[in-house]
Amino acid sequence: QKIVVAIDGYSGCGKSSTAKAVAKTLGYTYIDSGAMYRAATLHFLNNHVSLENPKDVSKYLSNLEISFHPNPDNGKQETYLNGINVEDEIRSMRVSEKVSEVSKIKEVRTELVAQQQRMGKKKAVVMDGRDIGTVVFPDAQLKVFMTADLQIRAERRQRELLEKGEMVDLESIIENLSERDRIDTTRAESPLRKAEDALELDTSFLEFGEQVERIAQWAKT
Ligand code: C5P
Repeated sequence: QKIVVAIDGYSGCGKSSTAKAVAKTLGYTYIDSGAMYRAATLHFLNNHVSLENPKDVSKYLSNLEISFHPNPDNGKQETYLNGINVEDEIRSMRVSEKVSEVSKIKEVRTELVAQQQRMGKKKAVVMDGRDIGTVVFPDAQLKVFMTADLQIRAERRQRELLEKGEMVDLESIIENLSERDRIDTTRAESPLRKAEDALELDTSFLEFGEQVERIAQWAKT
């Protein structure tokens, strides 16, 4: 395994944007594990897969191809599902509402964890998710557990969705974030929890630049 910075935490804490900026600062590759669960969810939705049917789930897992490619215009990494750019679609509420249900499925986790581990073998990475420090890379050189006040998380997410042209009321976002947290922390398979050796970072009152700098500093020491 190469150098790994593992960033875990609750939904909407800003893990992805922070991890992305940390990776840029350190010159590592950023991998968004949540995007992989989201792409799997979109794949299942598009193909009307019944989540209760293990055969159906396995069949569609076997023709699920997820990759990341930089956008030639701005260099931003985007998610591809079976060769199609799904970066915007996987952030929609339609996917957000289903993704934690899909992430509970053992077969889904086994497949995606294996893919994530392969990615971390090739290059130095910053990976964010829910189980990176506990399951995917228990030997990561740096583990960070991000938290933030629920109201603040929801307001940030609302702004993000608005920038993409999706208007969602704050109540629905609060409901979605807390429901995902509930499912993520109570599921049988690799529930979300702070790894014992993870450093905790509450970002409620931190500026974006400060949280990036904090993690980058930890990575360097
Ligand atoms: O990080 P993001 O909010 O995009 O993740 C979407 C969902 O994917 C989470 O709510 C969680 O259910 C699932 N997930 C997971 N394990 C990961 C990353 C994401 O279960 N490593």
